[in-house]
Amino acid sequence: MSLTQRIVTAMLLGLLLGALLNFLSSGNILSAGLQSWIDLYLVNGLFDTVGQIFVRSLKLLVVPLVFVSLVCGVASLGNNSRMGVVASKTIALYMTTTALAIALAVTVASIVQPGVGVDLAMASEFVAKEAPPLKTTIINMFPSNPIQSMAQGSILQVIVFSLLMGFAISKSGETGQRVGGVFSALNEVIMKMVMILMNLAPYGIFCLLAKLFAGLGIGVILSLAKYFFTVVFVLLLHSFGVYSLIFKTVTGLSVRRFLSKMRPALMFAFSTASSGATMPVTLRTVEHRMGVNNSVASFTVPLGATINMDGTAIMQGVATVFIAQAYNIGLGMDDYLTVVLTATLASIGTAAVPGVGLVMLVMVLNQVGLPVEGIGLIIGVDRLLDMMRTATNVTGDAMVTSVVAKTEGYMDTDIFNDPEAGVIRQV
Ligand code: ASP
Repeated sequence: MSLTQRIVTAMLLGLLLGALLNFLSSGNILSAGLQSWIDLYLVNGLFDTVGQIFVRSLKLLVVPLVFVSLVCGVASLGNNSRMGVVASKTIALYMTTTALAIALAVTVASIVQPGVGVDLAMASEFVAKEAPPLKTTIINMFPSNPIQSMAQGSILQVIVFSLLMGFAISKSGETGQRVGGVFSALNEVIMKMVMILMNLAPYGIFCLLAKLFAGLGIGVILSLAKYFFTVVFVLLLHSFGVYSLIFKTVTGLSVRRFLSKMRPALMFAFSTASSGATMPVTLRTVEHRMGVNNSVASFTVPLGATINMDGTAIMQGVATVFIAQAYNIGLGMDDYLTVVLTATLASIGTAAVPGVGLVMLVMVLNQVGLPVEGIGLIIGVDRLLDMMRTATNVTGDAMVTSVVAKTEGYMDTDIFNDPEAGVIRQV
C-alpha cells in the first residue's frame, strides 16, 4: 500500500475506535472496572503517549529543516535577484487570500445568521490570553541570538537568520560553495528523516485520532450545529473554490492532481491540528511530489506555516458574526472591515500551534468591541474545527507556493504531472 492509503486506513480505524470508546463510556455500557482500565491504560495511556511522541517527532524536524533547507535555497539562488520578487509575491498572496477568506466568512455568516437566538447561559469559562502589540511582533521577527531563536522555535527569527546566512554564502565565492555543499548534504539527510517519520505516521495518526474522538462529545456539536457547519462550509468553499480558481487560472495545472498530492499533508494537518508540525510534510510534498524548487519552497512553506492562516481567519470571521448576533450587538460595514484587517494582521503575529486561533480571535473581538467571554460559547467545538481549519491553512501554503514557483519558473511540471513522483512506499 502507498503511504496515503495506509494513513487513510489508520485515520478511519482511529476515528471509529475513538467513536466506539466514546459511545461505550457515555452510555455506561461497560463495567466500571473495565471502563476505568480503558480510560487509564488505553486512551490516556497508550494512545496519548504514542500520539504525543508522534507530534513531538514531527516538531523535532521543524527548526533544523527550516534552517538547513532555507540556507540551501537562498545560497543556490546565487546572485539571482528574483528572491525579492518571490518574497513580495508570496507575502502579497498570503495576505490577499487571508483577507478573501475572512471576507467570505463574514458574508456567509451574515446570511446564515448562526448566532441568532443562542442561549448565552451555555457559555463555558474562557480566560483571554493577551496578544502582543504589532510593534512587538515586528521587532520580534529579528533575532538577537540565533541559537536562542532555534531553541525557542521562533520560526520567523530562524527564517531571517537563514536568509542572511544563505545570502552571505552565495556572496563568499569558493569558501561559500564549500559551506553551501555541507548544507546541501545536510538537507538531503534531514529530508530522509522526514521520510522515515512519515512512514511511521499511520501509527501516530491512529493513536491521535482514537484518543481525540474517545473524548469528543458529539452533543456539543449538535447544540452549535449552525456555527459549526457554517465554518465547515466556508472552509470547503475557500479550499475547493477560491484556491482551485486561483491555482487553475494562474498555473493552468490540474487542480485535481494538486489536491490528490496534498492528501497526506492534509491528513497530518487534520490529526495534529498544527501547521507547524505539518510543515516538514508540506515541504516534502511541494518539493518532491509537485516539483517546486527548493529555493522557493524552503522560504514560502515555513513562512506560510507561520503567517498564513486562512482557515483560522474563516473561523474568526464566522465567530465574530456569531458572537455579535448572540449578544444582539449590531456590526456596521466599518466593523466588518476592521475584522478583515485585524484578522489578517493577527495571523502574522501568532504561531502555528493548536488553538492559537482563539488568541487571535480575542484581538479581533477587542478591536470591534465585542465581549471576549463570547468565545466561551464556541470553545466546545473548537478542537474539531481547529483540525479542519489547519487543513485549509496547509492547503493555502502549498497553493501559494506552487503559484509563486510556477510563475517565477521554479517548478518542474513533469514532476507535478507524474502521479508517482515522490510517492513513499514501505521502506
Ligand atoms: N492550529 C492552527 C494551525 O496550526 C492555528 C489555529 O487555527 O489555531 O494552523
